[in-house]
Order: sequence, then C-alpha cells, then structure tokens
Amino acid sequence: MPYFFCAENLSLNKFVEIGGEEARHILLAHRSKIGEKIKLQGPDGNRHNAEIVEIGKNKLKLKILEQLIPPAEPKVKITLFQAVVSEKALDFIFQKGTELGVTKIVLFNSANAATKLSSDQFKKKLDRWNKILGEAAKQSERVNFPGLEFVSNLDSVVSALKSYGKVFLADILGGKPQAVNGLIQTYAVVVGPEGGFTKDEVRVLQTLKNLQTVSLGPTVLRAETAALAIVAIIRSWAI
Ligand code: SAM
Repeated sequence: MPYFFCAENLSLNKFVEIGGEEARHILLAHRSKIGEKIKLQGPDGNRHNAEIVEIGKNKLKLKILEQLIPPAEPKVKITLFQAVVSEKALDFIFQKGTELGVTKIVLFNSANAATKLSSDQFKKKLDRWNKILGEAAKQSERVNFPGLEFVSNLDSVVSALKSYGKVFLADILGGKPQAVNGLIQTYAVVVGPEGGFTKDEVRVLQTLKNLQTVSLGPTVLRAETAALAIVAIIRSWAI
C-alpha cells in the first residue's frame, strides 16, 4: 500500500485534514473508509500510520498513530543525464528511475534527438513530470523523489559532469562496467537519444577525466533500457 502526502508535519495523536487531489486519490482510487489505516508522510519526511476518522466531500480527517521507519535513501547519489527522448520514454524513465533511487535527473538536448525541448516547454511540463516522480516515490515507499532539471546543450552537461566522482557514458562500443572504489559517493550516468550521440558529442564527453564509457552488450538498447540498467548496476554496488 503506498503512502500519501499530508501538507503538515505529523506527530502522535495529532488530527490532520487532507483535501484536494490527495483526498480524492485516497477516496476514489483506494476506496478508503472510516476506521481504515493508511500511511501518511509530512513535508519533513516523517511517516506515520493514520486512522481515517471523518470523510467529507473531497476531504478527510485522520488521527495520527505510530511513526513508521521508511526505507533508507541510497548511500550513493546517482544523477541521470538523459538526452531528451519521446514523452512516453521519459515518463517511463521518471517512474522507474525514482523506484531505483536516482537522486536527480537532468534532461538535455542532443543533436540526434527526434524531440528537442526549450526551457519554456520544460517549465510547462514540470508539474506533470513532478507528479509522475511523486507518485512513483509513494508507490515505492521512497521518502524523496528525484529533482528534475533541464539544460539546453551538451556544454552545460560537460561542465556539470566535472563535479561527480564517476561518470558513466552509455555507449554500445564501451567497456564492461567495473565496480568502483567504495569511497565514490556521486555518480552520473549519461544516456543518448533515440538516434544515439554524434561522434563529436562522444569526443567532447570523453575529454572528461572522471568518465568511463560503458557498454551493456552488443545489442542496441532503447535509451530507457540503457539508463535504468546502468542505474541498477551502480545501485547493486551500494545498496
Ligand atoms: N542508433 C543509435 C546508436 O547507434 O547509438 C542507438 C541509440 S540508443 C536507442 C539510445 C542510447 O542508449 C544510446 O545513445 C546509448 O547511450 C544507449 N545504449 C543503447 N544501447 C546500448 C548498449 N548496448 N550499451 C550501452 N548503452 C547503450
């Protein structure tokens, strides 16, 4: 059972009200009734069981019960630098990336992308995308969901990548991903668009000293498969 968001912080025996979309979600999607217990999380990340004591039109009153210990956030921080791909593929990456513990997702325009994004388009889509990330966090019981950013070009990606302990560039021609020394805490994964990176883009990325080009085998993977597979490999080194 997923948890739900409460706009105020929670403490034992407190009564809280939930309205709006979250209340509709609890009432319609989960058909909750008076006396039922659900999990609530406040803005500070504290999670509690809560009992439904009143149901109104699109609102609920709940009594806060015992505190719950949510799953720990991953020990390592993984940022996925994903070239803009189709809306459907991005939705998939946002949902599964959240489940796999990604800390941040940075979208960027790449030469061979079928779809390009402008800053204005990114801002317009941000609410819907944050909703997908938030729902995935609730479903997977994760406390946080990834931050989502957009940079328009590869130069900005390259300068941002310099600050990471290790960068993995996903490329069919790369080497086998090697487990990295446990002291590294910040990873970046760079994945291309449907049309792949151009030779120039790969050359520019490979100027980075902290970058390793990694292959997941000889088959051509969809961007979303490559992105999630590399994130899962890194996660398997530091759960
Ligand atoms: N025709 C494109 C090419 O040759 O690069 C295919 C691009 S693929 C659909 C999208 C992205 O997924 C690639 O840019 C790369 O980052 C990643 N990718 C695809 N297959 C991969 C593999 N076998 N190993 C590592 N990364 C891969």
